Amino acid sequence: MNAVPLEAVEQCYFCRSPLGPEVLRTAYTDLWPNPAGQVFTYRPCEPCRLVVLADRPVYGPALEEFSARQGGCAAFDGASPSWVVRALTRGLQARKLAVLRRVTRVEPGMRVLEVGCGRGAFAGYLARRVGCEVHGNDLHPLPASPGVTYHAGPFAPGLFGETRFDLIVAHHVVEHVYDPLAFIAGAHALLAPGGVLVLETVNKDCATFRWFGQDWGLLCAPRHTVLYSAAFFEDLPARVPFAGVEVFFDGYARAVSPLAQSLVHRLRLPLGTGVGKALAFALFALLNPWLAPLELGLGLGRAVITVVARRA
Ligand SMILES: [Zn+2]
Repeated sequence: MNAVPLEAVEQCYFCRSPLGPEVLRTAYTDLWPNPAGQVFTYRPCEPCRLVVLADRPVYGPALEEFSARQGGCAAFDGASPSWVVRALTRGLQARKLAVLRRVTRVEPGMRVLEVGCGRGAFAGYLARRVGCEVHGNDLHPLPASPGVTYHAGPFAPGLFGETRFDLIVAHHVVEHVYDPLAFIAGAHALLAPGGVLVLETVNKDCATFRWFGQDWGLLCAPRHTVLYSAAFFEDLPARVPFAGVEVFFDGYARAVSPLAQSLVHRLRLPLGTGVGKALAFALFALLNPWLAPLELGLGLGRAVITVVARRA
């Protein structure tokens, strides 16, 4: 993919206040080779305590096509012909379920929706392992897990008819969407009384973001449109009428070292190419087993947060 047109954003995605001065800029992206040297800037909203992408790709088919082709970890495929991919996928799903069980109740018969389900690896795992009734939503889901009801299209309450859910899970989705307030309010509307929304996302208030800035391994410009903080979510009931919100410095991605990711990013390997991607992965695989436990031991493992929001 070559350059896509950018649009300037001057106001906070949430409160519509004018954004503060630029906190970082980068032309480095894993989205496309970026031969035109397009620069992406991030600016803060001080009242909301978050940072947003201030010049973002215009939403359209090119971006959707990319998301469908390369949907991050959600693309892990439990039905892959490669045993390495299948083993990685199983480990990942087990970690997702373990985190989910640490933060909320997950029981057989619960009706669960996973937003951003990709090929449905985790949705299928929940259905088989726990016995939940599982629905999955993505822009273009590629159904690979039986036992999951798929709903294709941009997330909107209208996609699900009258169905309401006991649990809605979205792993690393809310930092990608263009109207995150509508996204969270839509999830609230789809919860049954007492239902719970669980979001996992990246946390800008962590040591590695302060140290690395534009080289932060979790920046993923320009795919990440909002970099959140725990404080933002603690104030969420003032915007969307959840009965309560808890934030955990935990997540399935905790075993991935942000320090290792950031060091690899600093090398500026061409991630838009196959060779660049393979080199980056090899370096990361060498560094991660050493750095991940060290970071957790030093209390630096706060780069991801899990948010649990409960409907009255
Ligand atoms: Zn704001």
